[in-house]
Amino acid sequence: ATPTALMVGTGRGAQLGILIKGPEVLESTREVDTIVLDKTGTVTTGRMSLLEVVAAEGEDSQDVLRLAGALEDASEHPIARAIAAGARDRLDSLPAVQDFANLEGLGVEGSVQLKGLSRKVLVGRARLVTTSEQPLPAELDLALARAQDAGGTAVVVAWDGRARGVIVVTDTIKDSSAEAISQLRSLGLTPVLLTGDNQAAARTVAAAVGIESDAVIAEVLPADKVEVIKRLQAEGKTVAMVGDGVNDAAALAQADLGLAMGTGADVAIEASDLTLVRGDLRVAADAIRLSRRTLATIK
Ligand code: ADP
Ligand code: MG
Repeated sequence: ATPTALMVGTGRGAQLGILIKGPEVLESTREVDTIVLDKTGTVTTGRMSLLEVVAAEGEDSQDVLRLAGALEDASEHPIARAIAAGARDRLDSLPAVQDFANLEGLGVEGSVQLKGLSRKVLVGRARLVTTSEQPLPAELDLALARAQDAGGTAVVVAWDGRARGVIVVTDTIKDSSAEAISQLRSLGLTPVLLTGDNQAAARTVAAAVGIESDAVIAEVLPADKVEVIKRLQAEGKTVAMVGDGVNDAAALAQADLGLAMGTGADVAIEASDLTLVRGDLRVAADAIRLSRRTLATIK
């Protein structure tokens, strides 16, 4: 009788906006005790907007935005889209880019003309451009810290080996995230927030949605997200992971149960067992409830 119950569960899932890869997937939700949530695009909308451009002393903030905007125009990252759109809104035109490279989980680089000279530009994490000998100028360091404490994401713009500015973008926490997390908790799952973004921004988002600061794993490179899942599994946890990005795909595949946001990247959806069609995290709780109910019917 079991296949029939599982088929019914699968059909009910479709009504709830849950696409289930196969009936057997419901079985693997049974033991899940930990749910790892990607931050950007999963807990937050991932639709970022440009908030602030801060220039280093002696630099022009228009130049900072122009070079960063030109470079980010070639990237699909949510941070990049916010910067490119903000630059196009505020400036008449963006210069061309040569030798563009995407540094996955870190930022972007390329050559852009400024005042007749070709500049080698980097936009991304502070550690891309700072060293212990060459820290961030104090005014940029302050802007970065202030933005991150407010939960914003700040990236550094550098050219010709020097940090020239900081650009702050903000994301919006989805209205449904806090409620989703409280529902997941009442189902007995421990939520964990996982992100490549910085600690301060991650903790601010975590606090806003009801995740303890000791359950925040931040500044994780894309390739290391899968290692975090393996580590939790090695500690004896049975792990569900919810994500939306290209950088989440390996972790979603490694998790005991992978849930992709239907609004996310195709590779994330392909790597997952379940897809939450509307990208609403509350449906993750529905999925757990549904599978428990379905399995209870079988027994
Ligand atoms: P998440 O895990 O939140 O989805 P990513 O792993 O994609 O984030 O990126 C981690 C960090 O790398 C970002 O917070 C940002 O600092 C930097 N970064 C990545 N891509 C870009 C980009 N195109 N422009 C600027 N910064 C970037
Ligand atoms: Mg993401």
